[in-house]
Amino acid sequence: MLAGHFALAAGVKAREPQVPLWAVMVATQLLDVGFVPLYLSGIETIVPVGAGGYGGGIIHANYTHSLVGALILSALAAGFGLRRWGRRAGVVLGAVTFSHWVLDLLVHRADLPWLPGNWGNFPTLGLGLWQISWLAAVAELALIVVGTVLYGRSLANVGNRGPVAKGVVTGLMGLLLVALLAADWFGIGG
Ligand SMILES: [Zn+2]
Repeated sequence: MLAGHFALAAGVKAREPQVPLWAVMVATQLLDVGFVPLYLSGIETIVPVGAGGYGGGIIHANYTHSLVGALILSALAAGFGLRRWGRRAGVVLGAVTFSHWVLDLLVHRADLPWLPGNWGNFPTLGLGLWQISWLAAVAELALIVVGTVLYGRSLANVGNRGPVAKGVVTGLMGLLLVALLAADWFGIGG
């Protein structure tokens, strides 16, 4: 659910204009940013379920997507935001980073561990919305619509560019997110 995470970040950016867009976008995907090198080195893996495709995988991201791992990454993002842009930005970036885990908790099949490396072998977490893939995609699309609308509205109050330019920016963001969701649905991307 790449697109859903980005959409949530766009909605947050709309309400917290002092935090740069790039920072909320990186924060919302920080767990997956960490996942990439661990995946490439075989430490974290994806096992396809059935035909694979959209939401069709058990994701063993036992470090980056463990609850404690997510909290650590969120604390790092919060610390970074605090140092660069002050306390409010720190809170926002920490929360946005952790929102990735919360959204993943909704869709993942129970594959999210409590502790890094699934230490202690506690029961893993995940509500498994991906098992009804169309419903997960509809939920993600709803997130995209809300995030894009909030972002578009927030643009109306800032800067001195005209409404057409702002409409184009908002439209492009919406299109990009829908394209990302479509790529995800058709099995390209994560
Ligand atoms: Zn993730």
